Amino acid sequence: MRASILVVNAGSSSVKFSLFDQQDAADPGLRYKGQVEGIHVEPRFTAKSADGGLLADEAMPADVPNSHDGALRHILAWLERHTGGAKPAVIGHRVVHGGRRFSRPERITPEVIAELERLVPLAPLHAPHNITPIRILAELLPDVPQVACFDTAFHAEQPELHQLYALPYDFSQREGIRRYGFHGLSYEYIASVLPQIDPQAAQGRTVVAHLGNGASMAALQGGRGIASTMGFTALEGLPMGTRTGSIDAGVVLHLLNHLKMDARGIEQLLYKQSGLLGLSGVSSDMRELHASQDARAKLAIDYFVSKIAREAASLATTLGGMDALVFTAGIGENDAVVRREVCRLLGWLGVALDQDANDARSGQPRRVSLPGSRVAVHVIPTNEELVIARHALKCAVR
Ligand code: ADP
Repeated sequence: MRASILVVNAGSSSVKFSLFDQQDAADPGLRYKGQVEGIHVEPRFTAKSADGGLLADEAMPADVPNSHDGALRHILAWLERHTGGAKPAVIGHRVVHGGRRFSRPERITPEVIAELERLVPLAPLHAPHNITPIRILAELLPDVPQVACFDTAFHAEQPELHQLYALPYDFSQREGIRRYGFHGLSYEYIASVLPQIDPQAAQGRTVVAHLGNGASMAALQGGRGIASTMGFTALEGLPMGTRTGSIDAGVVLHLLNHLKMDARGIEQLLYKQSGLLGLSGVSSDMRELHASQDARAKLAIDYFVSKIAREAASLATTLGGMDALVFTAGIGENDAVVRREVCRLLGWLGVALDQDANDARSGQPRRVSLPGSRVAVHVIPTNEELVIARHALKCAVR
């Protein structure tokens, strides 16, 4: 029987999973993917085959506890039924923050779990949800090795200049207050396929825009991360579905000192009530903003686009130029309007979009710039799960 790799990506209200089959001397092949979403509210289970065929789409049974624990057990039971009871050979997890300690994938041990717990304050809204399934699966499948893959790891080799904040140097060194960067598993995937898609850019200077509910951008030099818009936490940089992105730290002091907001209230404001949702008052979802007639929905889209273009120019300066611009993730892959407007603002840098190619719908990687464009523009669907599966396999046999 072929060995399989289970990939788990757990968030605050969802547990996503993918099951890959190990293939000789080739990439793991996807077999099933799915999720339980709406945990703590109205949890729903969906599962699909590798070709996108729907295999399950149902409310979670009432006798399954409405929790991450219940969701994971339900996923495992479903997988067991669909794989004839075979256990995965290895489990890979997406973990948002590796702090200073973890700059590559790590086999999970009790000591590693303890260290992940210590890192929770660096990503208080995400990290606990990453750790819960690791603990549960260690209990349920104690013989199956687990591997943590970090969203920060790809950025670990950024030059010091781009990791620093202009705080007192010794203080920030001691406290680990520096720019870490996130979405590294997505950037790693893009860097892994770029040599086939655009060999020149792969060796040169590429700016990647990962535009999903969470959004960030990164500068790649020869496929390595040089700088990123996200920093100490996943709050910095671009505005996101519900996160502010970069904001004057003085605003936070004002909220504390003059509006007398407490830390929890400020956290909610910055992470949950801001960004596209906060600006528009309509939705955090880009599709709903496009569908809305509300002037503030348009304002939110314009703000998002303008920040992407500004960050692209800033990252291009860091790289000393830009050979390629890559769009990825939910908005980057699907939203021709956002891509068009970003490219229009970057025209002065030599970005010339092919409007027809940009408007064409496809789930495949594709070039959407005109042949004469000084900067090649690509749309490349990301695949963070595949990166995790590759690492999990490698790490488990190490
Ligand atoms: P996450 O960060 O949760 O993984 P995704 O990468 O799935 O997020 O991206 C979600 C975002 O992508 C949402 O804002 C959604 O509206 C947007 N999106 C998905 N499909 C489209 C589309 N066809 N056009 C515009 N935006 C889209």
